[in-house]
Amino acid sequence: MPNCKTIAICNQKGGVGKTTTTVNLGVGLAMQGKKVLLVDADPQSDLTACLGWRDTDNLEETLSTKLSEVIREENANPASVILHHEEGVDLVPANLDLSAMEMTLVTAMSRETALRTYLTSLKQHYDYILIDCMPSLGMITLNALTAADSVIIPVQAQYLPAKGMTQLMQTISKVRKHINPKLKIEGMLLTLVDGRTNLSRTVVDSLQRNYGSVIKMYRSTIPVAVKAAESAAEGKSIYAYEPNSTVSKAYAELTKEVLNDGKKDRVRASDAR
Ligand code: ADP
Ligand code: MG
Repeated sequence: MPNCKTIAICNQKGGVGKTTTTVNLGVGLAMQGKKVLLVDADPQSDLTACLGWRDTDNLEETLSTKLSEVIREENANPASVILHHEEGVDLVPANLDLSAMEMTLVTAMSRETALRTYLTSLKQHYDYILIDCMPSLGMITLNALTAADSVIIPVQAQYLPAKGMTQLMQTISKVRKHINPKLKIEGMLLTLVDGRTNLSRTVVDSLQRNYGSVIKMYRSTIPVAVKAAESAAEGKSIYAYEPNSTVSKAYAELTKEVLNDGKKDRVRASDAR
């Protein structure tokens, strides 16, 4: 597919809803007829587990296998690692080997571009590739930002993320300057919103003030609901687990926003031509 869009779901803080967003945006896009590949770029392999593959140590191949093939310039089948989820998304799984791969990458020639090289070989088959990043700004995350067209930043509504956001913005700027000038920030997504507290409002206001002029804040926000955590334990998306939940509706709305932004991108690209 010539128009494949690669989005990194990134925030170096853990527990902000990156993995949950990757699953439910990914399945949401698949439900709208898009071909979707999810990439687990976290050695903790939460995404792989959330989609039902819990015994990650026994996976024959993982993202790490594919990255080492790129580094060694081997001609292997890029798709051999892909798992198919019953809700219509494909997955490149991960396990702890990715942690060792992070060290290997440091001294590799293709240290920042290995993931980009690998995903380029798969793009023709997909409309969207979503990369679930790990909670750090190390080599693997740099690879994700290098491979991506854009970034979605989930932000947890309970905390003022001031310092962490500055680091993330600096990293994104560096990646743009040195290796991926086209990298865009797709938008910031407020997650784990507890409607009962004023703090969410304060966080939104503070983010708007600091970043509102440069970064789009999604109109959809994701409420706190145990169903979100339960669906992960079942290896399902929120749509399959509890279609009428607030979280399900929120992720469906987010999916629409992301699809609309994709359409605008294409109009802009054709205007430019
Ligand atoms: P990250 O990938 O950024 O570390 P996760 O998506 O794994 O974040 O979410 C962190 C934890 O919060 C997980 O246990 C997850 O099941 C739970 N969680 C995610 N989104 C919600 C939500 N909307 N409501 C309640 N719990 C959630
Ligand atoms: Mg995660």
